[in-house]
Amino acid sequence: MHYIDCDVEEPNGHLFLNPKNNQEEVIRLLSPAGVDDAKCIKCGKCSEACHYNAIAVVKDKVLFFKELCHLCGACQIVCPVDAIIEEERSIGTLRHGLSGEIDFHDGLLATAEGGMSPRLIRKLKTYISEGINILDSSPGTACPVVETIKDADLCVLVTDPTPFGMHDLKLAVAMARSLKKEPVIIVNRASYNRLDLEEYCQAQQLEIVGEIPNDRKLPIFIPGETSLLMKFPSISIKKIAARIIESAKHERQVKKLAEESYFFQDRQVIKKSLESDEMHGKRPKEVVIISGKGGTGKTSLAASLSALDHSMVIADCDVDAADLHLILKPKIKESGYFSGGVNAKIIQEKCTACGKWVMPVIWLLKKRLRKVRLNIILTR
Ligand code: SF4
Ligand code: SF4
Repeated sequence: MHYIDCDVEEPNGHLFLNPKNNQEEVIRLLSPAGVDDAKCIKCGKCSEACHYNAIAVVKDKVLFFKELCHLCGACQIVCPVDAIIEEERSIGTLRHGLSGEIDFHDGLLATAEGGMSPRLIRKLKTYISEGINILDSSPGTACPVVETIKDADLCVLVTDPTPFGMHDLKLAVAMARSLKKEPVIIVNRASYNRLDLEEYCQAQQLEIVGEIPNDRKLPIFIPGETSLLMKFPSISIKKIAARIIESAKHERQVKKLAEESYFFQDRQVIKKSLESDEMHGKRPKEVVIISGKGGTGKTSLAASLSALDHSMVIADCDVDAADLHLILKPKIKESGYFSGGVNAKIIQEKCTACGKWVMPVIWLLKKRLRKVRLNIILTR
C-alpha cells in the first residue's frame, strides 16, 4: 500500500502515520530569473505571452515578478533573441518514509511558492507504484486538487452534513464529473441532521459508501494513531474500505449533474405562504424581544412568553448564535437552505459594450467623495 499526501500546502498525513526512515528530496525546476539587458530589444513579446502577468515591459525596462511566474516557459519560447535568463528554483521538498508496511510520501511547498503546488504534486505522483495508492488531496476544487485526481481510478469525496460541507460537496461533485470521474461519498460527522445531504445525493445519484459518526472521543486518539478508526467498531472502517476498493476496480459511469431545482424550494415555499389567503389583508401580530446588549435574558423571556399561547409562532432571529432551541427543544420537521438574493451575470452575447454603466458609478463615487469632504470640514 502506498500513501501519498498531495496536500502539499499543509500536509498532515505524517501525524497519523508517523513514518520512519524519512528521506528528503528538494525539488528544483528551471525558472526565468530575469532578462539579459544586453540582448533584450524590448519587443514586449514575453509580456504578451505571459498569462500570469509575471513579466511587464515598461518603457525601456523589463520587470519580472517571480512570485507570479508559473514556469510555463512561454516567455522563453517567444523571445526572438533568447534574452530570458533561467536559473534553478527550489519549489519544495518531498519526504519519503515507511509507516509499518505502508510506503509513505508527502510534499512540503516552499514559502511563497503557492502557484507551484500542481508541479510539486506532479513530482509526488511519480512515486505511485504497483498496488493500492491512496492520494490524500488538498480541499477545494482548485488546480492542486485537479492535479491530484485527474488520473485516479476512484475519487472519494468526504463531506459533512452542514451547510458549508454541502456547499463544498456540490462544487467537488461538479469538478469530479467534469474530469470524467464518478465520485463516491463518505459522510463524516454523520449524526447531524442530514436530510439535505440525503436529498442531494439522491438527486445526483451519488453513492454513499460509508459514514463516520460525530463522536467527540475520536480526536483524542489522533496523534500517531494508525489504527484510529479500528478502535470504534461502530464505524466499521473495514467495510468502508472494502466498498471503496470494490468501487475502484470497475470503471464507473459518470452521471449527469442534476438540475438543483430544490435550491429554490425555500424561496417557493416563502412566496407561496406570502401569497396565501391568510396573509392577504390579515397581518399577524408580531412581538419582538430586543435589548442593547447580550446576556440580559431575551431568550429566556421569549421562551417563557411562548408558554402563554399554543397557537404562537416563535422565531429565533439571532441567526449568528441561535440558542432558543436549547430551551424549547423543538422537534425538527423540516430544514433546508435559504437563499436571499440573486447573482448578477453579464450575458456576453447580448452585451454591446456601450459603457453606460460608467456614469452612474462616477456619480456614486462623486457623491461619496463629497460626503468625505464634508466630514473632514465638520471634524475640523
Ligand atoms: S521577448 Fe525577449 S527581447 Fe522581447 S522584451 Fe521580452 S525579453 Fe526582451
Ligand atoms: S515562464 Fe510563463 S509564467 Fe513565468 S514569466 Fe515566463 S511566460 Fe510568465
